[in-house]
Amino acid sequence: MGDHDALRAALLSRVATLTNRVGRIEQDLRKPGDRDWQERATELENDEVLEGLDALSLAEVQQLRQAVERIDNGTYGLCAGCGGAIGAARLSAIPAATTCVRCASLPAAERTS
Ligand SMILES: [Zn+2]
Repeated sequence: MGDHDALRAALLSRVATLTNRVGRIEQDLRKPGDRDWQERATELENDEVLEGLDALSLAEVQQLRQAVERIDNGTYGLCAGCGGAIGAARLSAIPAATTCVRCASLPAAERTS
């Protein structure tokens, strides 16, 4: 513990930002749509965009939470595929990465361990 304190805080603040955004999107989706049909058509298109964002944000929140869990149990930075260290460059690009570059490029079935 200690090495990843700053990263852990950054991950949690990102989770908070995304969670707030998802909350706002869900409120938007629940707005009553008592307008004429033309406005409703536009509204439906917007809803599709919002739903896409929603799913992406939720997926990212899940990955970030898992990264925080890995920091907490001491497995952060270790590849889930081969158990080796995930490169620092990869972690700074993708803080929630669970596999090293090599394993990420292999289908799960071809991993040896
Ligand atoms: Zn690996």
